Amino acid sequence: MPPNSGGQPSFVTVSQTLQITDLSVPGYERVVRGKDPQSGLHAIIAVHDTTLGPALGGLRMWPYASEDEALFDVKRLSRGMTFKSAVAQTGLGGGKAVILGDPKKIKSEALYLAMGRLVDALGGKYITAEDVNTSVQDLEVIRRATRYVTGLERKDGGSGNPSPYTAYGVFLGLKAALGQVFGNDSPKGRTVNIQGIGAVGSALARRLVEAGAVVRAADKNQERLQQLAKEIGFQPIDEAAVLSAPCDVFAPCALGAVLHDQSIPALQCKIVAGAANNLLLEPRHGKVLADRGILYAPDYVINAGGIINVSVEFHPGGYDEKVSLAKIERIPQALVELWTIAKQERIPPSDAADRLAERIVADARGKKKAASCGPGNQGKPGGCGCG
Ligand code: NAD
Repeated sequence: MPPNSGGQPSFVTVSQTLQITDLSVPGYERVVRGKDPQSGLHAIIAVHDTTLGPALGGLRMWPYASEDEALFDVKRLSRGMTFKSAVAQTGLGGGKAVILGDPKKIKSEALYLAMGRLVDALGGKYITAEDVNTSVQDLEVIRRATRYVTGLERKDGGSGNPSPYTAYGVFLGLKAALGQVFGNDSPKGRTVNIQGIGAVGSALARRLVEAGAVVRAADKNQERLQQLAKEIGFQPIDEAAVLSAPCDVFAPCALGAVLHDQSIPALQCKIVAGAANNLLLEPRHGKVLADRGILYAPDYVINAGGIINVSVEFHPGGYDEKVSLAKIERIPQALVELWTIAKQERIPPSDAADRLAERIVADARGKKKAASCGPGNQGKPGGCGCG
């Protein structure tokens, strides 16, 4: 049942000029391009895997230099959502959507209605949500063309803003990392350097300051940084220094790909635990971190609080915050298990997470196949075809 079937959106007829083209992408269940000359929409939806459930992932708007660049991004992000949801046990698969263009120039009601129609054309295989440069208000427009939308406001039957839930999961995961490294998970007196004091970073800073940590934070937006520093009680730090300043924990909550051959040798921390997605520039950087003796909390495991919260919209009876919090509180346990596997198998925690995610999806695929090949199904339409 789609999460927003309970509300009363007024469905509208939108542009009939939307052209949908299937792109052949090995390893992905379905990738479609949507182009609508009337509204200017040029979008791609990538459904990576729906073995565990419908593919849920945000809708990003970005001024990509080319369609190839957009396709690369949407593929990478959609696969990441499969892994994130698998480990977080959300009962969802992985997908993502991107709209190509400059958000300052192309946003319009017609564009979002056309996007809604593109989402709807996939019949629920892909469910959209907020992401970089799209807002709940944008989703409200999309919802007029499709019911396959999550993350709307509570008053509209949604689970609301995911950021506080992401921050809660990161806070708990960070504590688990402290426990792992120092034998005591209390943030009291520990130093944490936060890169990016946006929706997640600021909520994380608040929790850490309340728990007695010494928090330093940097942001591109100096005005907001200074204002939040006063309000929350952290020390502002220079954007260029936040990664290399000595601390117990470096918490990247701004951009992805900040961990690479140049930045990792500069780190002066024991732990990297933050909210940003795709922190490792390349998978091999997980080993570079481990070789430096730095404990890494795999990004898509520690930052799963938001997707966990959204996934609760699918529960029978609808969204329930208590269910969401109970599931988010399992993040530390998942991390400890991964660190244990990593130690036993002498692999970086990031590899341990990928292997676990791949195994969860493969097991579910195997079970589905076995069920479709069960007695009575062989040779039937929709059966496995092996009879
Ligand atoms: P946001 O846009 O609210 O905050 C990001 C902040 O980082 C902004 O204040 C921005 O000015 C700052 N920033 C950008 N570049 C910077 C730089 N080079 N140095 C310092 N600061 C910089 O985003 P958010 O919702 O807080 O998300 C933060 C990160 O966590 C993103 O990478 C996002 O993809 C990831 N994430 C967010 C959620 C969520 O629920 N919001 C869930 C999972 C992952």
